[in-house]
Amino acid sequence: MMIRSITHHALEALCVQASEAIVAVDAQGCIILFNPAAEAALGLRAAEVVGRLLSDHAALQALAVLLSEADSSQGAIRVRLPLASGGQVPVQVIALLDGTPAAGEDLVENLVHDLKVPAASAKNFIDVVQEAGELNAQQLDFANRARLKMLTMVDAINEVIDTFWMNASGRLYPQQTDLVPIIRKIGREAGDFARLRGVTIELALPEEGCTVLVDSTRVRNAISNLVNNAIKYSLNGGTVRIALTQEPGSITCQVTDQGIGIAAEELERIFERGYRVSSKATERVEGTGAGLAIVKTIVEKHGGEVFVSSTPGEGSVFGFALPTG
Ligand code: ADP
Repeated sequence: MMIRSITHHALEALCVQASEAIVAVDAQGCIILFNPAAEAALGLRAAEVVGRLLSDHAALQALAVLLSEADSSQGAIRVRLPLASGGQVPVQVIALLDGTPAAGEDLVENLVHDLKVPAASAKNFIDVVQEAGELNAQQLDFANRARLKMLTMVDAINEVIDTFWMNASGRLYPQQTDLVPIIRKIGREAGDFARLRGVTIELALPEEGCTVLVDSTRVRNAISNLVNNAIKYSLNGGTVRIALTQEPGSITCQVTDQGIGIAAEELERIFERGYRVSSKATERVEGTGAGLAIVKTIVEKHGGEVFVSSTPGEGSVFGFALPTG
């Protein structure tokens, strides 16, 4: 499978996994992505079709017609493609117009969900194994490691979706949102990961709630990124505290840890995309360097600001302030 632009890298990665046949075309009707499920369903190889027009292939001509009849602003359509051999194949066709695949975002959401569900249920199976009877120390160690991998995988999936969103439209869908239950849920979900790392999570949230106009999915992802980092870089356990405060005209969310901390000269660079601190301590921690760039983008798109302060060996405080109008 090939795709032209790096912008669509995340989409490509997700389409590979999809069980549904997916064909993406550019504004000229040129095929830019043909996933393995489409190869199997249509009996064509990606190498034969990518870079060519839909209308060049007898088997795909009907798709070209269906796409031209569809509302192009819709971006993605699901069709049943008739096969020469009889029968029909369900195919999703995505039109990636002018490099801003708005519909691709919806598709990514769906595909990510398809990936998240098995990852989360695999984690649940590991939980069940642990509850089903006593495991010896080695079995417990393997089960815990597998669990941690599954949790990491779910986070990586979320990072893919956010990276894709940043590269694509970066649009926000603000709605009145109470951040308190969202943070409680983040705390609960991170609880497993924290326990495995010997970290305690503490919440300091306004009892009366804190309702603000934000894109709840993105802000949740931003907070969750900071919390996961705080746990990930707490190599000797300790406490991770998530605090939310509301002032007139703004809210502040702050995540404090007692982890490895960051040297002053690194602080300027850690919000850059792909930048990772390279040290003896961090080389043991998995990551892509994408998380903080995602957090910064989400916060700044809301008109807010990120902040960090840190002392090596003592811990860090990461957070952001958002205007509430
Ligand atoms: P990743 O964690 O995937 O490397 P991030 O963009 O989330 O990427 O973070 C960039 C870098 O900032 C990390 O590589 C790490 O060195 C540093 N960092 C982020 N959060 C913390 C933290 N809470 N404590 C110490 N270092 C951190």
